[in-house]
Amino acid sequence: MDSPIENYLRRIHAEIAGLKDGKPYSAIPAMANVNPDCFGIALATADGFVYEVGDTREEFSIQSISKPFTYALALADLGMEAVDEKVDVEPSGDSFNEISLAEGTGRPANAMINAGALTATSLVKGSGGRSRFKRILDTYSAFAGRDLDVSQRIYTSELRSGHRNTALGYLLRSFGIIESDPAPIIKDYFRQCSVMVNARDLALMAATLANSGRHPLSGDEVLDLASVERVLSVMTTCGMYDDAGSWISSVGMPAKSGVAGGILAVLPGQVGLAVYSPPLDEHGNSVRGVAVSQRLSHDLGLHFVRAARTGR
Ligand code: GLU
Repeated sequence: MDSPIENYLRRIHAEIAGLKDGKPYSAIPAMANVNPDCFGIALATADGFVYEVGDTREEFSIQSISKPFTYALALADLGMEAVDEKVDVEPSGDSFNEISLAEGTGRPANAMINAGALTATSLVKGSGGRSRFKRILDTYSAFAGRDLDVSQRIYTSELRSGHRNTALGYLLRSFGIIESDPAPIIKDYFRQCSVMVNARDLALMAATLANSGRHPLSGDEVLDLASVERVLSVMTTCGMYDDAGSWISSVGMPAKSGVAGGILAVLPGQVGLAVYSPPLDEHGNSVRGVAVSQRLSHDLGLHFVRAARTGR
């Protein structure tokens, strides 16, 4: 028998499925042919209950939702101070691929836009026989609680079409923000964007952040609390492209979206929410993803201000 939460989610899913606005991302050719009707909602609590409705096992590329997790690994590896020297924590208010580098130093505004994300990737080093990318993939897998993999088709397509990211990598090298040959770093960034996930994975990744860095099902400590705090802070101010202000006002949860149509949101101490629906709004955020998040935030009191009141 379905739980009341699942029944509620089913109702919201049916209602919001009627929203037909937006268009799937087409700048990466291999992503252009998705089914725009795919739509899944997954909710995972910090203590390990998972609720799923719709296409929650449909796989898609993680894209920019990778950024907080690579940033997390860089923070865990190097500590905050060393990472801060290379990437700032200021919202740029820009779209994801804006060339937001500080004048003079070239330091990217934050790790949620491409310049900062490429820099975060460069800060992760191979170790113990594992390459940089293997360590990144293992980190995402630990957050999800299962072994994830790369879509070679999407990776190749990104590599062929990602001219701006390639240019950004070389620009960052010219400023000395990236300190070695940018070519393999750019490739690893494209690989990390091409990691395949489903909405259930994203909900568990979010719930791991909500649970102070401990995976709610495996119980493994995936990230230390100081890094969780930092990652969620930057997601709060910079996670939703140039719509971050309106998002935090209407939803009130740190979040990150990706151009494949995924959105992940975190209510610390309580839940991780994930939505997958490919059509995007003018900011590059999933139209149905934003609508579901606003609705759930309102109905379940997930805005951090309201949640703090009901938690008293
Ligand atoms: N791979 C995409 C890019 O870097 C990710 C964009 C996104 O999801 O925001 O251009």
